[in-house]
Amino acid sequence: PAEPGSPYRVVLLGASGVGKTAFASIFAGAADTTTASCVQTSCVRGRLRWTGTRPPVTLMDTWDVETESDWARENFLRSADAFLLLYSVTDRASFLRASELRISLRRFRPAQRTPIILVGNKCDLVRRREVSASEGRTCAAVFDCKFIETSAAMQHNVWEAFRGIVRQLRLRRDSE
Ligand code: GDP
Repeated sequence: PAEPGSPYRVVLLGASGVGKTAFASIFAGAADTTTASCVQTSCVRGRLRWTGTRPPVTLMDTWDVETESDWARENFLRSADAFLLLYSVTDRASFLRASELRISLRRFRPAQRTPIILVGNKCDLVRRREVSASEGRTCAAVFDCKFIETSAAMQHNVWEAFRGIVRQLRLRRDSE
């Protein structure tokens, strides 16, 4: 984080409709919630188990990426500590969008090993699936990030994803 003791900023990225808001509300609902309006984002401050005493994570649901200026977008991406990169397993276009976003992240943050988890959401919609789990896994391997399938609707694996990102932040902190 920017200052010692300030929470890590975890950003939810992904095409519209993939479940970012649903993710943020699960996180907020389970925690002591203060929902603040930031300039371009909604921030949700929540508690995840951490070795320190302070709540370590601020989750940021992203704005409509397309409407922001390049400057605002770039600044925002640079200021984050970690990313949950979402797509919907029922929407191949959102899967392609996740790849594009991953490439942008690499461009904005070339030198850093930023924790990223590729999240295939809506895995409850079995009959509407367009992207298989193995495609997701392969994509994550190519992009050198972790992978998980979730269902925000069923609250399946969502906390696993949050915990996973915290685990990676902690590993990175310990190795610094
Ligand atoms: P956002 O645009 O990325 O913030 O997406 P939302 O969180 O608003 O979700 C878009 C729609 O998908 C809403 O109608 C949600 O209720 C629905 N949705 C989100 N996650 C899931 C999920 O895991 N399963 C199902 N079946 N629907 C979901």
